[in-house]
Amino acid sequence: MASTHHWNGVLDSALDAVGETPLIRLDRIAKAEGLKCNLLGKAEFFSVGGSVKDRIAKRMVEQAEKNGILIPGQSVVIEPTSGNTGIGLALACAIKGYKCIITLPAKMSLEKEVLLRSLGAEVVRTPHDSPDSLIGVAERLKEKIPGGVILDQYSNPNNPLAHYYTTYGEIAHALKTSNLRRKSISALIAGAGTGGTITGLARAVRDSEKDGASRATVVAVDPVGSILGGGDVGQYQVEGIGYDFFPAVLDPKPPLIDEWIKTNDDEAFAACKRIIRQEGLAVGGSSGSALAGALKFLKSEEGKAIAEDPTANVVVVFPDGVRNYMSKEWFLKQEEGSRDAELHDTIREL
Ligand code: PMP
Repeated sequence: MASTHHWNGVLDSALDAVGETPLIRLDRIAKAEGLKCNLLGKAEFFSVGGSVKDRIAKRMVEQAEKNGILIPGQSVVIEPTSGNTGIGLALACAIKGYKCIITLPAKMSLEKEVLLRSLGAEVVRTPHDSPDSLIGVAERLKEKIPGGVILDQYSNPNNPLAHYYTTYGEIAHALKTSNLRRKSISALIAGAGTGGTITGLARAVRDSEKDGASRATVVAVDPVGSILGGGDVGQYQVEGIGYDFFPAVLDPKPPLIDEWIKTNDDEAFAACKRIIRQEGLAVGGSSGSALAGALKFLKSEEGKAIAEDPTANVVVVFPDGVRNYMSKEWFLKQEEGSRDAELHDTIREL
């Protein structure tokens, strides 16, 4: 399960710069919240395509090539995605020479669409992010396009496996080589879209427990308006997490996932801006959801003991960066409170 560290020397291509992201202390937020545990963010925007989904794109393409499902010079990669898997796939296709078509729900950011097009992908916007829309259009395209292949992140076992091996391997390696008193995960918190991240990480955590690690709590975060963590279908702006159906790769129950926590847009965007402003990490909206969910968990009855344990390691997955969302209303609207009032007055008086 060990991750391979290949940052020494010269990389063969951008695909070798997928993952290998840092695990970073969030001390300012932890202190302000009165937490004694180590609050740690896995900052996935450091990956070459800018998100956690580079990992599954690379693994799905490489495995499909191995199994003869993708044939160079013939296959056309088609994928329904909220954008980040598409960016990872388009990047792999650019390097490997495949044509690529991405079906992308209307609500996803312009930044993602423009980046996809610049990587050479065709982008087809779909009205909703329900399966019959986003996935249905991809399937209709596949029927019409000779050589069309849908790698299907919603059912492809390489989605959770990418996290089982690389995301978990990196977290375990970071903790093992750290100066922290405990070298294992006490709680792991991540949002769920396809559920590949949380399911793959949870499987690796449970396997590490079989090998003697103490039990960790795994918490999945889900937006209000998604059914994954319970509740009714509704609209929300956060991108990349939540669905109105259960993807096959998601294993939502204990013993894998202990708890589901719901967050709304306001909490998510406030927490996102807080991570940027207080920790200097320019993360995206779903990272805000993950932090908001983590703080709710640490303040709950179930999380209190972990929050008060100075040796506990709480790992929160930050899936992408805010450069994906620069044109979104919620980000353009910067709170007055983030300014220094005295400096601002001086500047205004000039
Ligand atoms: N956040 C963002 C921004 C994403 O693009 C995704 C991928 N859909 C996720 C979170 C959730 O990851 P997963 O699909 O592995 O559950």
